[in-house]
Amino acid sequence: MSDHPLLNIRMHASRQGRHLSGGERLAGGEELDDLALALLRRALEHPRGADRISLTVEALSREAIRRGRLPDVHTFLVDDYRQGRQAAMALLRRAGVGEAAARAAFAALSRGPAPDGGNMRGAMLIDAASGARLEADPARGVRASRMDLSPEAARELDRELTRLGLDRRRVREALVLAAKVMATPGIVAELCWSDDPDYTAGYVAAPGLGYLRLPHLKPAGEGRGGRAFFLRCSIADLAAVVTHLQLTPVLFEEIGRFHPPRAWEGSCHE
Ligand code: AMP
Repeated sequence: MSDHPLLNIRMHASRQGRHLSGGERLAGGEELDDLALALLRRALEHPRGADRISLTVEALSREAIRRGRLPDVHTFLVDDYRQGRQAAMALLRRAGVGEAAARAAFAALSRGPAPDGGNMRGAMLIDAASGARLEADPARGVRASRMDLSPEAARELDRELTRLGLDRRRVREALVLAAKVMATPGIVAELCWSDDPDYTAGYVAAPGLGYLRLPHLKPAGEGRGGRAFFLRCSIADLAAVVTHLQLTPVLFEEIGRFHPPRAWEGSCHE
């Protein structure tokens, strides 16, 4: 496998059948040892203690790989999670998500998006007009997969995130995930807040608007969170959207612009 130009390395950790942690990279064979070890360490160091960890390594054909650029990043400063959610609602509406659909996403993320009130391993798929849940398995959701940064873009992003004092791994992974989601035809927006009780920030991402960070989208200590991908496509096209999210490999070779943070003032106009 080490001769192959690009490998997809994926980790998933769970406890008693519940998702704890996941991560993945695209890299050449020479990086496999280091990346696999880093993902394994992340799983082993999870504070809730995994009882099952899987590591998958898959060779990808170089011809199948698409290239892309990360979105521009805007940060809107909000006083607390209530204002953060108001801002997120306005941004989703601006991206073309209907009010009912946005409300359905907020409600699901607040109560725990899986049917048992737990967190999901993947994202909810939500019809951007009706708010209907579209994913085949509402306990698991759909995981965006097979995306990463080129080594040069990763170095550049690392420098930017260090300069801005942001959590490098977390923001990097979220940006790459959001970029893949935004590059998927049929998706109009994404909403995310973490399930990590210590991390209150989240974002709305949408083609044309970029990656819109909100430092507070949930109260500190809240362990429920997740992601919603909003779709505007026919049921016939749903399978193509899911295939693209899960299987199309995308390598991001350029980073976007980081705009200075500014106070949320009720709209995202420049
Ligand atoms: P995290 O940003 O790692 O705290 O993840 C928060 C939630 O986002 C997870 O509980 C999942 O529901 C969802 N999620 C994480 N990774 C992915 C992914 N690759 N694709 C879709 N949803 C994801």
